[in-house]
Amino acid sequence: MKVAKFGGSSVANAQQFQKVANIVTADDARKFVVVSAPGKRCKDDTKMTDLLITLAKKVIEHDIYEGVLAQVVARYDEIVTDLHLSRDILDVISASLQQMIDTYRDQPERLLDALKASGEDNNAKLMAHYLRQLGYEAHYVNPKDAGIFVTDEPGNAQILPESYEQLAKLKERSGILVIPGFFGYSRSGHIVTFPRGGSDITGSIVAAGVGAELYENFTDVDSIYCVNPSIVEHPCQLRELTYREMRELSYAGFSVFHDEALEPVYRRGIPVCVKNTNNPEAPGTMIVATRDHRERPVAGIASDTGFCSINVSKYLMNREIGFGRRLLQILEDEGISYEHTPSGIDNMSVILREEQLAGDVERRVLERIVKELRVDEVSIERDLALIMVVGEGMERSVGIAAKATAAFARANVNIEMINQGSSEVSMMFGVKADAVEKAVRALYEVYF
Ligand code: ASP
Repeated sequence: MKVAKFGGSSVANAQQFQKVANIVTADDARKFVVVSAPGKRCKDDTKMTDLLITLAKKVIEHDIYEGVLAQVVARYDEIVTDLHLSRDILDVISASLQQMIDTYRDQPERLLDALKASGEDNNAKLMAHYLRQLGYEAHYVNPKDAGIFVTDEPGNAQILPESYEQLAKLKERSGILVIPGFFGYSRSGHIVTFPRGGSDITGSIVAAGVGAELYENFTDVDSIYCVNPSIVEHPCQLRELTYREMRELSYAGFSVFHDEALEPVYRRGIPVCVKNTNNPEAPGTMIVATRDHRERPVAGIASDTGFCSINVSKYLMNREIGFGRRLLQILEDEGISYEHTPSGIDNMSVILREEQLAGDVERRVLERIVKELRVDEVSIERDLALIMVVGEGMERSVGIAAKATAAFARANVNIEMINQGSSEVSMMFGVKADAVEKAVRALYEVYF
């Protein structure tokens, strides 16, 4: 049994629905179908989820919202009309959106999550209808009935372990089961969404729950590329990646697969195949536990901007027991998550996502560091980019780092920081954000 998840662009209009139906019905093993909300139909289009967020904001701000509500319904109307589905379903969609607005008008977080989730929920209902119209046995399955239970953190749900046992029961149901991505239910029965792009997470959870032989993730590219194609033109396509490589690459900006989506399938060793809805014949990229990395020790190069570094120094820091813990405690108290902590004998840097220091947070953090840790110096370096060179084969290859540093030197890029964990699956370089593209191109030259 396979789980096939279709992203927003794969279910953006009637033509895409037809492609999805062809793919699903071409293979009897594709029993579980997870869908996103309609994505962009063309470059300047608006994703349904963004439209729903605008709708929620208008209601919350007591603004006129009817126009946006009509736009939401119009997108489904287009699909219903073009696929010749029964128009009754549109009345059901309109009524359920209005009911959400009326019920949660004074609970902004609940309203936002309920409306966001409706994007995938209504699309799943349409997809099930369409498959039935084509003569297949297909059922829409609500995440509550499927057993997708999550923590009650609006917009940031985490799966609860009991879900997997519930999901396993889906195997006994007949027909093709169409499940909306992106949300689950809290124990108290509220709709709670995963982070943006979270339909990938639903697909992975379902695959893990039913013990699928394969999790197919359909998107709009033939494969995962070894580097961001907007930085390097026509980069090479990857046939195979390991879970660890994918995790490292998606951490640093490979958006083709959500970085939280790997965990459920990784724990159960379920392979993932990233494929193109618009070209399903292309083999795609397999994500698996191990790969033969002799030919290509480096799998990919990822980069992401928006980081900063808090740099502290104190004479004899290395002798001061508990210094690092106390520094990180200050961040924890502020609810800040950190990414890396490169250190020297008398200095330590904490790399974090810049946006976390917004408002008054930066001043409070710096004041506490000075007062409580009695440091000699503390400063913040902004506008940093992180570049990750990722590959399982690095562990046994000599000279990979030398190639990178030589490439940086040739491109005249200053390395602000270097970090390599014990796993040796990735090497991380910090550079100024304005030099990142130049640096990535230089690395591509030497590794690919
Ligand atoms: N529709 C949601 C979003 O745009 C989730 C997804 O498509 O995966 O973020």
